[in-house]
Amino acid sequence: MPKPTLVVPLRPLARVACVQAPVPTPYGLTWAQTAGRACVVCGRRLTSGAVSRGWIYGQHGAHRLDVEVWCCPAPETR
Ligand SMILES: [Zn+2]
Repeated sequence: MPKPTLVVPLRPLARVACVQAPVPTPYGLTWAQTAGRACVVCGRRLTSGAVSRGWIYGQHGAHRLDVEVWCCPAPETR
């Protein structure tokens, strides 16, 4: 008798552009992300056309973690 196998349906990957994705919290961002040199959503290095996502706010003890973040430009419409 064959062992039952757990079938996990594959969900299609959500193809949400970075400009539409929710902005994460400032905790755990890389230096490049907090410096505005990498996309805050996907972490890719930003070149030109970066889109400002404004400021995200956080606090760690006495340290303020407010940071202005940027993300990839909107993908070209095809
Ligand atoms: Zn991105």
